[in-house]
Amino acid sequence: MNQQYRLIGADGKVYLSDMPGTFGGNKSKHIYGKLGCSIALAHIAKGGYVKNRVFFANEQDAIAAGYRPCANCMKPEYKIWKNAYESKKADILCAAVVPMSQ
Ligand SMILES: [Zn+2]
Repeated sequence: MNQQYRLIGADGKVYLSDMPGTFGGNKSKHIYGKLGCSIALAHIAKGGYVKNRVFFANEQDAIAAGYRPCANCMKPEYKIWKNAYESKKADILCAAVVPMSQ
């Protein structure tokens, strides 16, 4: 029997896969990153992070499940996410201060 891996799908739910995940994630912080991320490995070495460790088959699933890129191992993706997040926040703020017309 093949080994099965518990991965998080695009809907945020756990499913079993024959293939191991290619991205890791932190369930409590909703951050995803590379499996070899130095920060993730440092946390795992300390034992604090293992219970929140999740895996994704690919980056698209991680994003669809509502995870954001790791600022350490996924810098370019993190920058894009942060810009998008902040412009979204700015939109909400603008909408709140614009007086209603009529
Ligand atoms: Zn990372």
